[in-house]
Amino acid sequence: MPKTIFQKIIDREIPAKLAHEDEHCIAIHDINPQAPVHVLVIPKRHIARVAEAQASDQAVLGHLLLSAATVARKLGLEANGFRIVINNGRDGGETVPHLHVHLLGGRPLAWPPG
Ligand code: 5GP
Repeated sequence: MPKTIFQKIIDREIPAKLAHEDEHCIAIHDINPQAPVHVLVIPKRHIARVAEAQASDQAVLGHLLLSAATVARKLGLEANGFRIVINNGRDGGETVPHLHVHLLGGRPLAWPPG
């Protein structure tokens, strides 16, 4: 399977602006931000999407949310709040088949989403 764009970023083959990195994930600023803060938290181990996650991925899935909260604190979003989004499949708006958590904040976010 060819590497996803996120795998290439993880492997340092293409650049990205880093917000956080640890053993299990990387967090980068989105190239096309939809809010003043728009960060993607991406597992280093490839999982295509939530629908394809396995029981053995449970710890990594939890780690992604905790890491998103860590990044939110680090970027000053805690006081006013933020949104975490995971797009899954065509109707969900997924465009990169490598699981990622969107962290959005820095402005009020409308609900329901479009
Ligand atoms: P999805 O639509 O799959 O939920 O989200 C993919 C996200 O990845 C989009 O918000 C898009 O702007 C972002 N993205 C796509 N290619 C790149 C890239 O090369 N670098 C960065 N930093 N973000 C990217």
